[in-house]
Amino acid sequence: VANRMRGLQQSVLGAMTVRCRQVGAVNLAQGLSQVPPPASVLAGGARDFADVGHSYTQPEGLPVFREAVADKLKRSSGLSVDPATQVLATVGATGALMATLTALLDEGDGVVLFEPFYSYYLSSLQVVGLRPQPVRLTGPDFAITAEPLRAAVTDRTRAMIICTPNNPTGRRLTAAELEVVAAVAQEHDLLVITDEVYDEIYFDASPHLAAATVANLAERTVTLGSLGKSFSVPGWRLGYACGPEHLVGAIRVAADSLVVCAPAPLQEFGARALNLGEDYYRELRAMYDRKRRFLAEGFTAAGLSPNEPDGAYYLFVDCSRMGVATGAEAAEVLLEHNLVGTVPGEAFHLDAPDRPYVRACFSLPDDVLAEAVDRLAIGG
Ligand code: PMP
Ligand code: GLN
Repeated sequence: VANRMRGLQQSVLGAMTVRCRQVGAVNLAQGLSQVPPPASVLAGGARDFADVGHSYTQPEGLPVFREAVADKLKRSSGLSVDPATQVLATVGATGALMATLTALLDEGDGVVLFEPFYSYYLSSLQVVGLRPQPVRLTGPDFAITAEPLRAAVTDRTRAMIICTPNNPTGRRLTAAELEVVAAVAQEHDLLVITDEVYDEIYFDASPHLAAATVANLAERTVTLGSLGKSFSVPGWRLGYACGPEHLVGAIRVAADSLVVCAPAPLQEFGARALNLGEDYYRELRAMYDRKRRFLAEGFTAAGLSPNEPDGAYYLFVDCSRMGVATGAEAAEVLLEHNLVGTVPGEAFHLDAPDRPYVRACFSLPDDVLAEAVDRLAIGG
């Protein structure tokens, strides 16, 4: 086995799903998006599966898909991209990230990650041979500020990865935080990779703020997206990368070498999904807002302290009141005693977090969440 795999295992996210099955736990661990995809995309649309293309596409993907992505970005955040040259269809946001890292960074380059971060960033950096440079953000607000960011950047730093709305905290980056990112990126000529897979899932009235719409960020930013979250189809493995033409052109070549293209039939269905109107998204947000409140009340009633996410579909729960030292211990008690699976906060940090956090996903049917809340009520 190659040296670059040293210490790597299957992601804790997927591994927790296996453990939940083994012990019969309700799985709030891995974000599996177990709510129904939009019915109009699955059935009753213009085309049947037999009629769609089944061969390779060009590496950048089908025009119909890229145009739908460009229209959607314009509609949801005012981000303008040329579908002909600035959009690439990818095998999920994960495929977009891998192709971006491969295309734009050299082995040994440093990449700033803001803790807590989506755990695949770390494994993706390792596989490509890049060095994580963590910047610790602390609760309850987990805000990016200039000083710790500047302190983390060295002369080997080449890029930053940001995520808004965030997994695991659900925080949305503010304009002020993105201006800090822009200032530091300019000072050190850094690439900014912004993971915006949860761009359609948020709980207040203000629309999604795309990093690439902030002054001085467009020319150095690659935006990653996924259809998995907005349309509850993570198993489709369909996402996209957008950005300046010269960057997307290089990512296209890397993606070609890695996977040839994204699944062709799903790009056609994906375009149909991306063209859904505002009513769909309004209902999606209302549904997740309800689920978020319900699960947060369950954790609170159990004596724990969930945060109040602005977006995405996770609660980040401070379990200090369980009397445990680490998130790993808290997750173990919740799994074995309450039969509720969560992800230990350690999975989203390089260095141990300052509190025993667990992450709980609420992208589940109401009856499953109700069962989880009943089980959380079982005292210790
Ligand atoms: N980024 C974040 C923040 C995510 O939560 C996820 C899904 N867990 C991904 C990327 C990966 O998305 P995809 O399934 O499209 O590869
Ligand atoms: N996005 C989901 C999570 O954070 C699933 C990721 C995965 O299993 N690859 O749990």
